[in-house]
Amino acid sequence: MSEKNETSTRIELIKGDITQLSVDAIVNAANESLRTGGGVCGAIHSAAGPELEKECLTLGGCKTGDAKITKGYKLPAKWVIHAVGPIWHGGDRREDELLAGCYRNSLKLAEKHNIKTIAFPSISTGIYGFPIERAVKIAIREVKNFLEENTSVEKVAFVCFSKRDYNHYIEVLYNN
Ligand code: ADP
Repeated sequence: MSEKNETSTRIELIKGDITQLSVDAIVNAANESLRTGGGVCGAIHSAAGPELEKECLTLGGCKTGDAKITKGYKLPAKWVIHAVGPIWHGGDRREDELLAGCYRNSLKLAEKHNIKTIAFPSISTGIYGFPIERAVKIAIREVKNFLEENTSVEKVAFVCFSKRDYNHYIEVLYNN
């Protein structure tokens, strides 16, 4: 099997609710204050219980493009990696670079904490308004680049809440 194919088999696409997944870590599409919010962030905090926000508030916030890690509390996942995606302002405020940073920094934390399986939602493409096609290309490129260099992370899942998002991932993952 070629190296390229080996990397592809470590990427999985799931349609569903990220809070239900039994993986080592789920990634939260967080905000800079690391407080609970709407969208996937609200769903993760409500499934994890109030201890999650308590720990988050000890971390001193998180810069856009960066990520911080906490325990998963009542979630099936042991860890939550809180990545702060950029708010879309039209594309000339380093949004691409900042979104790429979320994936890179989350994966670096995964490596550091010996996380073998990790699931990402589609960061920034909900309330933050990042165009989905553009975000999916960045997400897949960064995960593939990381997996080519790293062997400690075994599986990376992209979790889509809607069929529409799922189809965008299919398009980029399998039709290129
Ligand atoms: P952001 O503020 O970074 O845009 P959102 O939470 O608004 O974050 O949206 C990010 C993505 O997460 C969207 O594609 C949204 O459909 C998706 N999403 C919302 N709830 C869940 C969930 N429970 N599991 C997985 N994805 C979810």
